[in-house]
Amino acid sequence: MNPPRIVVVGGGAGGLELVTRLGRKLGLRKRAEIVLVDRNTTHIWKPLLHEVATGVLDSSLDELSYQGHSSTHGYRYQLGTLSGLDREQRRITLAPIHDEKGLPVLAERTLEYDYLVLSLGSVSNDFGTPGVADHCYFLDSVKQAEAFRKAMLNTFLRYGDPGHHERSHLSVAIVGGGATGVELSAELLNATQMLKSYGYSEIDRNQLKIHLIEAAPRILPALPERIGNAARKELEKLGVEIHVNTKITTADDKGFTTADGSRLDADLTVWAAGVRGPSVLSELGLSTRPNHQVKVHQTMQSIDDERIFALGDCAACPQPGDKMVPPRAQAAHQQANHLYKNLVAMLEGKPLQDFNYRDMGSLISLAHFDAVGSLMHGASARGLFIEGMLAKLFYASLYRLHQKAIYGATRTALKIVVDRLNNWLRPKMKLH
Ligand SMILES: Cc1cc2nc3c(=O)[nH]c(=O)nc-3n(C[C@H](O)[C@H](O)[C@H](O)COP(=O)(O)OP(=O)(O)OC[C@H]3O[C@@H](n4cnc5c(N)ncnc54)[C@H](O)[C@@H]3O)c2cc1C
Repeated sequence: MNPPRIVVVGGGAGGLELVTRLGRKLGLRKRAEIVLVDRNTTHIWKPLLHEVATGVLDSSLDELSYQGHSSTHGYRYQLGTLSGLDREQRRITLAPIHDEKGLPVLAERTLEYDYLVLSLGSVSNDFGTPGVADHCYFLDSVKQAEAFRKAMLNTFLRYGDPGHHERSHLSVAIVGGGATGVELSAELLNATQMLKSYGYSEIDRNQLKIHLIEAAPRILPALPERIGNAARKELEKLGVEIHVNTKITTADDKGFTTADGSRLDADLTVWAAGVRGPSVLSELGLSTRPNHQVKVHQTMQSIDDERIFALGDCAACPQPGDKMVPPRAQAAHQQANHLYKNLVAMLEGKPLQDFNYRDMGSLISLAHFDAVGSLMHGASARGLFIEGMLAKLFYASLYRLHQKAIYGATRTALKIVVDRLNNWLRPKMKLH
């Protein structure tokens, strides 16, 4: 008899950690066949995308090749984009793949499963705001982050040409005062300094105007107020103009119009407000929320089908007290660990355990300028507030934990050494 096949769709912060653990425990021992499907050939940890967008991180140095990783970690990788689900036949459909010229590479395919895990992550939510999809940059994928980086470099070059620019300063408007918008604002100021130090542009921090726009009364509304206040203070000190209680009603090629009719013109506009599940999740015949997240029980099983699980940003996982697991990398990490245990238990005929999210705190990086956050929310309502070097260290450790889960401790230690060497040997940002 063939071993059961566990198909995981989405190799991100949660999905890749899950297949790595399942592969080691079950795949290498042929106790189960583990298959990872992802629409990309490589993985980058999503919280690094603001660094890719500003060029501070060269994605080609940090990305993991699914094919290479799968060959030594006991799972099989299949390139593909989920487009359909047949629950009766227990199979998923993967959309046809075309190359950049539109020529067919792979036809539509199906893949059978015994257990299916959906870990497709999320995309920014433009709430149907007119003009946003056409005129704003998003940071949902490496491709989008790279598109922003190229536009940013061109804008800096354009401003270097004295005959060209109309305004006295270059401006960037970022909608969404959550972690992405806040971290991108600080990283842009850092990138401006670096571009000047490499002689790429003459623009200094004072000539870059960043508008950070948030509809709620304060930035970082999902985090404790103290973190929001500390981040605001630091960003304002750096010259970022923060607009709270400001709702964007339209976007166009010159900037944004707000609900009170005022204009916010900018050279570059970024939409980083709100998250929702990918639309395909509502086309699979599973129960979803209006934001396309798959409704699951606390065991992470779909409420419609006990053979289907969802984790991370794409899952609406309830918690005691009418709460939901938040869309965060640390939640995806914890859920991957929990689901690994549940899937192993399931194959051994043991009962599944409920997932309980433990909020270990929240950390926000303000590039090299600062970091702020709090630890151990679970232990006290407000958590232990930290900033400066300590916060920076804890922030970096989040990524190292992800690396440890996918590479193991020894390789992660070696990667830290290689990162240090690269920092010393290579330019501190991607300039091409
Ligand atoms: C700029 C930025 C900064 C952030 N900072 C933080 C932070 O500081 N702390 C924090 O906790 N969280 C942060 N987050 C949020 C965090 O990145 C997410 O919560 C986390 O990545 C969710 O993990 P996931 O596994 O659910 O999805 P993801 O990591 O997004 O992975 C989803 C995977 O699914 C694949 N996929 C999508 N659709 C399909 C399809 N149809 N078919 C096949 N494959 C598909 C994608 O290619 C991707 O590999 C940040 C996010 C951004 C964008």
